[in-house]
Amino acid sequence: MRCAFRRNFGSLSIDGPLSETSRWRAIVRVLRSPVDAIGSALLPASCTLCGSSLPRLSSVPICDVCWSEIPVQCGVVCSRCGDSLDAPVVEGIAATQLCRVCRVAPPAFARAVSFGTYDGRLRDAIHALKYDRLHPAARKLGAMLAEAIVPLQPEVPGGMLVIPVPLHRTKQRQRGFNQARALAQGAISACGRLHPEWKLTLAPSTLMRLRATETQAGLTPTQRRKNVRGAFKVSDPAAVRGQNVLLVDDILTTGATARAAAQSLIKAGAASVYVATLARARRLNGNHQSNSVVQNAFADMHSSSSSHQPTS
Ligand SMILES: [Zn+2]
Ligand SMILES: [Zn+2]
Repeated sequence: MRCAFRRNFGSLSIDGPLSETSRWRAIVRVLRSPVDAIGSALLPASCTLCGSSLPRLSSVPICDVCWSEIPVQCGVVCSRCGDSLDAPVVEGIAATQLCRVCRVAPPAFARAVSFGTYDGRLRDAIHALKYDRLHPAARKLGAMLAEAIVPLQPEVPGGMLVIPVPLHRTKQRQRGFNQARALAQGAISACGRLHPEWKLTLAPSTLMRLRATETQAGLTPTQRRKNVRGAFKVSDPAAVRGQNVLLVDDILTTGATARAAAQSLIKAGAASVYVATLARARRLNGNHQSNSVVQNAFADMHSSSSSHQPTS
């Protein structure tokens, strides 16, 4: 699904006479369109997400209010896949609950963590990053992702090999960049500032996407599973053998992509795979979908020749 917000910001069709400011903004928008990233670094404009005027030059045209409205994931989550559980929060009790899918068909990854909920301004910001090519936003969004990654340090104190979920080369060419890689770079920089002793190494070419899969958005759980099944291959097994891997992506929904990628990495000899995504979308949306996710996860688990479980 494409961005549903403010797609007309670049338009010059403004009703009524243009004020000086409006004229200036209109010129800015026209100038910006062909030189997207460079323009956003140099020219004042309005917030990409809400349209309000930005008070100063910024490489990231998102206002402070929109940043502050980004929803953080809260409440009780599955201790394995990070999906929200509809359970009351009990003060002082560590959440060790598992969702139904992880109980029936545990994924190949040890744990998945997310910064926020795929909703509101976070959804808008991810759409702007991916489809409006708002590259400079990756730095700040990556710093948010780092907040989700840092709590993994006690489990994997030696550091991790950070692998962004790859795009197929055709899609990478179309989009011009891989948002997962941009987020991973932002997160590594932020983690480095917070914990310089923790070694996070970017390994962007280690995992390959073999097929040009359809976008997962809008697909049913069964379609998602079939879409990514066998889609990943580790290009350099020696690089991942014995390593603790952190797989990075922008969104995790049913977990089909993360499961498939983690399975390839474990099969190639990774000691463990953790998953960090900027946003977590609610996976379960009624019993029918819940059942399909469980059935698909179970089928995937048994379709793999690998029976490895991650170690942490
Ligand atoms: Zn705004
Ligand atoms: Zn779970």
